[in-house]
Amino acid sequence: MEKPKFFNHTLAELTTAIKGLGKEGFRAQQLYRWVHQLGVQDFDKMTNFSKEFRKEVPEMFDFCLPEILKVHKSVDGTTKILFNVGAGKSVEAVLIPSTDRLTICLSSEVGCNMACKFCYTGKQKLQRKLETWEIVGQFVQAARLLEPGQRISNIVFMGMGEPLDNPDAVFKSIEILHSEWGLNVSRKRVTVSTSGIVPLIPRVTEAGVRLAVSLNGVNDKIRSEVMPINKRWPLEQLLQACREHCEATGDKVTFEYVLLKGVTDSLQDARDLHDLTRTVPCKINIIPFNEHPESGFTRPAEQDIVRFQNELIRLGSHVLRRKTMGRDIYAACGQLTTAVKKSPEPQLTL
Ligand code: SF4
Repeated sequence: MEKPKFFNHTLAELTTAIKGLGKEGFRAQQLYRWVHQLGVQDFDKMTNFSKEFRKEVPEMFDFCLPEILKVHKSVDGTTKILFNVGAGKSVEAVLIPSTDRLTICLSSEVGCNMACKFCYTGKQKLQRKLETWEIVGQFVQAARLLEPGQRISNIVFMGMGEPLDNPDAVFKSIEILHSEWGLNVSRKRVTVSTSGIVPLIPRVTEAGVRLAVSLNGVNDKIRSEVMPINKRWPLEQLLQACREHCEATGDKVTFEYVLLKGVTDSLQDARDLHDLTRTVPCKINIIPFNEHPESGFTRPAEQDIVRFQNELIRLGSHVLRRKTMGRDIYAACGQLTTAVKKSPEPQLTL
């Protein structure tokens, strides 16, 4: 019989499972701490367990993690990690350093059904949703690559897949990564980014994590062309859900806005974007498009990007432009792929 996977368990579930095996419940906390917090998987090192229990632990659970296939390190410190998820498929996580944080971008699905036109992952239909242990496992494996003293401080669900298309596994993985007996990542340092699955935005609110929304269009016509999900949940419904999230949490929403030449980058678009978002407490991240084959879009000229940003600033929007990093590795937002060989030219925008 297949053993239950350790990294699928919240602490409460592990406690129940351990009690069910006739052991004291507090052993779950100890085991969680050894494995998640201290990164120990050599059971002989778990010195507060009896010899008998040390032998029993590996018989109770499967401690498997997604296998690392490749690690690509950029000259700027950005690291992309490619994981084998079986059946010849892979997913990617990206470690992104900055002065005050180390962020990991996690994948939630193999491929994606949302079909956003600018996104390379969206061209690869959904093949399967990742299980909780595969999401937690990306974090755990990445943490094991770090130098002593380094720690992943922030998590963004902006890798492959639409996280709200796989909500149970995503929110359970957040609970596991947040556990004080585990990795203790603050909920306020976790961001779930959605293309706009409106009915599930309240789950982001309930989870107490930050919300990012991929906007990429200033009216329903343009947004529906760029992001087909808009036909199902148009802008007004999406913005109303964002307002409700802000009211309930006191947080700001981050709107991601990809600049596509001739589609979303005019001065009028900047003005419309300001008007559209000004009733939502928010900041706007503008992301100059990273070109890749088959996308059909191009990146605006630098002066047009600056002009767009300056117009938003002039109007009073809180706007940031993502810094481009990791040019020498395959790691761009919206450019991740299920098959390594097909990866387009690398760029990572932050
Ligand atoms: S941008 Fe996100 S939601 Fe849209 S197709 Fe790509 S992975 Fe899916």
